[in-house]
Amino acid sequence: MRTRFAPSPTGFMHIGNLRTAIFEYALAKKYDGKFLLRIEDTDQERKVEGAVEFIYKTLELCGFEIDEGPLNPGAYGPYVQSERLDLYKKYALELVEKGQAYYCFCTEEELEEMRAKANLRKKPFVYDGRCSKLSHEKIAENLKNGVPYVIRQKMPKTGKTLVQDVIYGDIYIDNSILDDQILLKSDGFPTYNFANVIDDHLMAITHVIRGKEYLDQTAKYNLLYEAFGWDKPTYIHVAMVLGEDGTKLSKRNGDASFMDLYEEGYLPEAIVNYLSLLGWSPENNQEVFSMQELIHNFDEKRISKSSSQYDVKKLQWFNHQYIKNMADEEYLTWVKKYFTKETNKDETWLNHLLLIYKNGLNYGQEINTLVEDFLTDRYEISTECQEFLNSDSVIPEVIRTFKQEIINIDWTVENISEAINKVKEKLGVKGKLLFMPIRIATSGIMHGPELADTIYLLGYEKVMEHLNNYD
Ligand code: GLU
Repeated sequence: MRTRFAPSPTGFMHIGNLRTAIFEYALAKKYDGKFLLRIEDTDQERKVEGAVEFIYKTLELCGFEIDEGPLNPGAYGPYVQSERLDLYKKYALELVEKGQAYYCFCTEEELEEMRAKANLRKKPFVYDGRCSKLSHEKIAENLKNGVPYVIRQKMPKTGKTLVQDVIYGDIYIDNSILDDQILLKSDGFPTYNFANVIDDHLMAITHVIRGKEYLDQTAKYNLLYEAFGWDKPTYIHVAMVLGEDGTKLSKRNGDASFMDLYEEGYLPEAIVNYLSLLGWSPENNQEVFSMQELIHNFDEKRISKSSSQYDVKKLQWFNHQYIKNMADEEYLTWVKKYFTKETNKDETWLNHLLLIYKNGLNYGQEINTLVEDFLTDRYEISTECQEFLNSDSVIPEVIRTFKQEIINIDWTVENISEAINKVKEKLGVKGKLLFMPIRIATSGIMHGPELADTIYLLGYEKVMEHLNNYD
């Protein structure tokens, strides 16, 4: 089993691309196979500076162990398509030799004319094959004179070509709709449609997992495999991951990029876990699992035919599970990378503050908004809070009693908890009537982390100052 992730550096890898890589990786590793990385940079015009580094970094952070790739070549290199141009040329010429491809010398103007005609007839443009009829002499003369050329695949005009796919089954494509597609461009670069076949064969790829948008094209690839007399790989086409708004994700627009999520404080393990469940699910319906468990439970036959939609709320739920499960020390080191607020409080205080959010945090950067109330001196009672304070005659009593109970204690979370309990016993109040008056009077807000922790972190002086307003 050999699978490959073959991204094109035409933009910043989005989570849909990463989801494909996860499936390819899980499949290879499940069967003790090899996972390859191949950079498909044949479209030089659309190449985006920095995109390759972005791919390396993403895969590294996600914990992929790449068996062969540009940074750790194996026996099937090079692993970057722009370094394989000689190979593509050699194989394109072999096809010309076999009569399965031909030189095409058509100029841009001629092609434009053909496109315009197709347009008029409201038909998709299909190259009319005129250069396939050129004589040997004419071809030799053009080549001698250095006339620019492309090499085109000669398609059968009748019959059907079978595409077999693990997810979508057997599909027959009418040969008549197949274009004599370009294999080698005039700049000597192959098209993706040619290079993927040559590389998958030469790199001994056994299973190709890729986006469903390539499914129809696969008939052309199959014809190439047949022309060379090569075995085809097993195809597993996967439906799209749509963006939050239900539209196609775009690399060029920087949609849902892994790196953006990482920088916002989403853990790679959580992202991988979440993405693996977009269009796939394990038989046992487990939701939170490690990469090792994913590999163990992966079953390509359970990949769904329909597209799935990215949902950041669901991703946050996964991230939250992983944050909760971190050891305290690990959590503190991690969350401090995202904590950007100024504070003159000591380390112990800060650690305590950060830790009380461990069970509620959705992503790293969120910590800054959550802790805000502890870092400002703002104390304004909103109308909603005031209405609550006026809603029951026992409330002023709760606040006063609480003040008496804490006025002389050693300032610890335990003692504050005990003081709250004493108020409960003395006045016979519980639940909202007990907690809410104390919370509002001490912190000025209705919601926050554990009450005793909140009061402890506000500090004795501030709490007393606030409670004095209720004497
Ligand atoms: N380079 C193609 C892309 O990024 C890969 C398709 C494939 O996996 O064959 O979409």
